This record gives sequence, structure tokens and C-alpha cells, in this order.
Amino acid sequence: AEKILQIRNLTTGFLSDRGLAKATDRVSFDLEKGKTLCVVGESGSGKSVTAMSVMRLIDYAGGLIVDGEVLFNGQDLVKKKQSDMLKIRGNLITMIFQDPMSALNPVFTVGDQISEALRIHKGLKKKEAWRQSIEMLRRVGIPAPEIRAKQYPYEMSGGMCQRVVIAMALACNPELLIADEPTTALDVTVQAQILDLLLQLKKEFNMSMLLITHDMGVAAEVADRIAVMYAGTVVEEGTVKEIFDGPRHPYTIGLLKSIPGLEGERGGDLYTIKGSIPPISQLPEGCRFHPRCPYAMDICRHKEPVMQTSPSGHKAACWLDDHDGADPRPGAFSSQ
Ligand code: SF4
Ligand code: MG
Repeated sequence: AEKILQIRNLTTGFLSDRGLAKATDRVSFDLEKGKTLCVVGESGSGKSVTAMSVMRLIDYAGGLIVDGEVLFNGQDLVKKKQSDMLKIRGNLITMIFQDPMSALNPVFTVGDQISEALRIHKGLKKKEAWRQSIEMLRRVGIPAPEIRAKQYPYEMSGGMCQRVVIAMALACNPELLIADEPTTALDVTVQAQILDLLLQLKKEFNMSMLLITHDMGVAAEVADRIAVMYAGTVVEEGTVKEIFDGPRHPYTIGLLKSIPGLEGERGGDLYTIKGSIPPISQLPEGCRFHPRCPYAMDICRHKEPVMQTSPSGHKAACWLDDHDGADPRPGAFSSQ
């Protein structure tokens, strides 16, 4: 299938007095046209930096791309000038964030803000831009869009504001939508509605979607494929079915066990992975997950595991895959 996005060995960092602090380390994954890839991991795993790098917004956040490629329809965005990125951002690739309020201007009506995006990116005249803004508000499920268009963000709920932000992001019919924790700030019932909306719009607008989330439950709802990130690297990548039915990396296994309603249903306390993500400047030797891994072996403490790909394309970087003898991972035998 055609790939809209191919990220290859993306290594990024932030400069400080003590030199370069890496934020991502050789991150690679592909997104097929029309599909949704979820990047999942705890906060500090490098998922947002990866998204910001695709948009080349990392340049404005004091960071830099040290190495690797971000191929968008085969063109390497890492090599683009920011002046070229201006034509890509907001047009071909758009991004939405966790907090809709930060994306909206409090002093303009929502209709004016969507109109402005349409006028800048599509060169529409004022009247036509307003007409299309109302149409966009209707398409993102906002009732009475003619009235709502004349309202200010503070007159709307968080869920409504996120719908407005989505309308702005989709107004120019982008090929790729990047959504960074788009539902994290919303109530649970509103979260489900926004996820449903994103899936429906992805079809209607014929888009591809890169969705960043810390929540495996969200990934289960929307993803075709899932990439699991830990401490700046991708540790596992596969289809939703592969990840949920036969997870290979112990970190993924831990994330799955900590979803409410899956393992937690028996009324016990929710599982939590012990410890926390190390700062990427202070990574342990060997497998960067080893201090938290219930299965850590000798080799894990001094040698970094190599990413291995199954014939179906399921990837994981864990020494247990090279290990003779009993595999301690739950479900490890049924997954093969
Ligand atoms: Fe755990 Fe070793 Fe696999 Fe790392 S390589 S996840 S420490 S078993
Ligand atoms: Mg983040």
C-alpha cells in the first residue's frame, strides 16, 4: 500500500549548556494512506517531539533534528526550508493539540477564526470563507452552526471548542492530520464522541491520521497500527490485533495490563508499571527499559536489544525474542 509518511531513524534533541540532550533516538515507522497510526507511550517517551518534528515545529521549540528522514509523500521534510514548510503546514498537514483553548484566539468569534484559515490557505473571499466556515461547523457536528459561528470560544464547552479546532484543521482538506492527545483534556463521554468524530471525518475527508496518546484504550478505538514508544525509541510496532493479542515487548504488556476494564475488571487495583521513564540524558546501559522490566536478564543490562520484525511486519526490540527456553511473557506462545 502507498505510504503517506515514512519516518526513518529520526533522532532529535534539545541543546543545553551540557550539550545535546536527545529526545528521540532512531525512531522509525510508516503510515499508510487512509490509515490511522497511534503512537502510544507515557509522558516523556518522545511521542510529542516526534509529531512536532514531522511538522518541523521542533525548530521553534528550541530543538533540532539531528539525523533521519521524515518522508511525506516521498519528500523529505527534514530537508525543507521553513518557508516551504509554511505551504505544507496548515494545508497538507495539520495538527490539533490537547487543549483546544490554546489553539483558539479568545478575542475572535469561531466563525472568524475558521474563515481566516480558509482565506490564508485557500485564498477565499470573505463571504465565501464565512459560508464554508459554517459548513465546516456543521460537518464537525456543531448544532445551529450559523449561530455558533458568531460566538466566542469562552461561550462554548471544551468539547465544542475541540470540534471548532478540528473544523479549523480540516477546513483546507489536509492529507494528514496529526492529533496530539486530542481528547485527554475532555470528559470521558465527550472523549468518545470526539474520537468517533475524528474517525468519521478521516473517511469523509479521505485523510490519514497520526494520533498521539498515552492511552491504550484510545489506541484500541481508532488505530490501524500502533507504535509503542519508550524513552525516545520505538520498542514495538504492529497492527492493533498484534499489539493487543500478542504483545512482545514487556513495556507494551505493562501498558495493556494497566488499561481499566481489561485486567482491572476483576475488581483489583489497576496494574502500574513500577518506576518511571528515565530522562533521556540519563539512560541506563543496555535495554533502556531494564530497570523496570520484570523479565530483565543479564544481557539486558549491558546490550541494547535489536529491533526484530516478524514475517507479518510485527516489530519488537526485546532480548526475550532471542532467548532459549521458556518465554515468560503472557500469551507469548499463542501469538506466534
Ligand atoms: Fe525486558 Fe530485557 Fe526485553 Fe528489555 S530486552 S524489555 S529488559 S526482557
Ligand atoms: Mg505530549
